[in-house]
Amino acid sequence: MSMKNLSVIDIVNKIKSKEISCQEITQYYLNNIIKYRDKNAVLETFDDAMDRAREIDDMVASCEPDNLPALVGVPILLKDNIMYKGHVCSSASKALENYEAQYNATVVDKLLDAGVVILGRTNMDEFAMGGSCENSAFGPCKNAHDDACVSGGSSGGSAVAVALDMCAFALGSDTGGSVRQPASFNGVVGIKPTNYRVSRYGLMAFAGSLDTVGIFTRSVEDNALVLSIIAGKSEDDATTMDEPVEDYLSKITGNIAGKKIAIIKEVQELVNKTEQVGLFQNVIEYCQKHGAIVTESVLPEYPMILPVYYTTAFAEVTTNMNRYDGVRFGNAVASEDYIEMVSKYRSDLLGCEVRRRIMLGNFVLSSEHYNSYYLNARKMAGIIKSKFLDILKDNDVIFMPTTYGEAFEIGSKTSDPVSMYIEDMFTVTANIVGLPAISVPVGTGKRGLPIGLQILSSPFNEGEIYNMADFVSRRCDHE
Ligand code: GLN
Repeated sequence: MSMKNLSVIDIVNKIKSKEISCQEITQYYLNNIIKYRDKNAVLETFDDAMDRAREIDDMVASCEPDNLPALVGVPILLKDNIMYKGHVCSSASKALENYEAQYNATVVDKLLDAGVVILGRTNMDEFAMGGSCENSAFGPCKNAHDDACVSGGSSGGSAVAVALDMCAFALGSDTGGSVRQPASFNGVVGIKPTNYRVSRYGLMAFAGSLDTVGIFTRSVEDNALVLSIIAGKSEDDATTMDEPVEDYLSKITGNIAGKKIAIIKEVQELVNKTEQVGLFQNVIEYCQKHGAIVTESVLPEYPMILPVYYTTAFAEVTTNMNRYDGVRFGNAVASEDYIEMVSKYRSDLLGCEVRRRIMLGNFVLSSEHYNSYYLNARKMAGIIKSKFLDILKDNDVIFMPTTYGEAFEIGSKTSDPVSMYIEDMFTVTANIVGLPAISVPVGTGKRGLPIGLQILSSPFNEGEIYNMADFVSRRCDHE
């Protein structure tokens, strides 16, 4: 029986009905990981994956199907910054190359309780800083559909693994687009939930006010199912909100009649300059044809979002990176002198982009520059946030592109960091404002590579997003 591109929901059903065993599906994905190893999407497969699959099969043999957990036997991959006790978690950095997680992330505990098998860890930009996966200390991850192009980042490995059927779903992290942008570049579905919706306990911190754990799947329905399992208030992470977790799958109705979609004029002006303007227009017209109401809002401050994001992210990352001094975590660098040891550790073991951000973060936080950079960025973030929330008072969702277009070529932006940062123009909003946002494949670009549409909604309104995204993802079936 073919196991190709099975959905999470199919896998659970087939395991429950004993049509396939967990060991068979685990072996299928492990084979695919080997088959596509040149993509460099997976940094390591865990030796104990098969033992876990055997345990799951024993459980299936001895339990009534109705008593089995929701994700029984589903093999998954984790981004290399999400901790799984006793397994290496390196954030794709030389500094943490052999670092073993000391505890499970909350999301890992929740998924293990739900019955998953963790196959391994995926490639990423070092410490999640980047938008192409070229900043990995272990080499770039290539696009699922074109070896010459980037996978996107920072969670590039997870996106490629899902696109090429190396797992049933994968987790990533999204601080400014790291789930949605690679999802768009590789033709899969990627959600960044509302800030503080999913526990970050056990996620290596990048920028605390912006970090989220996100999900990559091949279908919108699978994504909705997984979010219902990992979301929620957690004792381990005091920032998680006590909002009810919905059964997101049940929010997918197949109907968008009467739904209000906002387009932002300043974003539309940018879209008009891109190759995907026609595609974007088609999706909007399709939604209108099926009863959605589309309106345009103005947000003159929109172009400020990128400097706001980078100033905030640099500042927060500088604080977070302080803990990497060569004493507490990861590889040590021998030296008699503490200062020399820390500086050697950082200069020898941290990559160029990480060091750049630590320096820029110290600059924006320095007493001389704090007011003009950091404080102004926070003020502008507040203004943009209230305007977005106003737009969402009158609308169910906002449509935006996820990226300027399809994946770019490996090496084409590495010598000019600002050109790489500009790529994040459409994704950083959701993190700054704290909104849930999804990227869903809607077509292809000139090169034939996938392009995603981004759908945002008000905080904790993931159900609305899933309903709209599912509808849009079935556009070809309906037309
Ligand atoms: N590309 C963005 C950055 O480099 C976002 C990264 C992320 O979401 N982790 O900061």
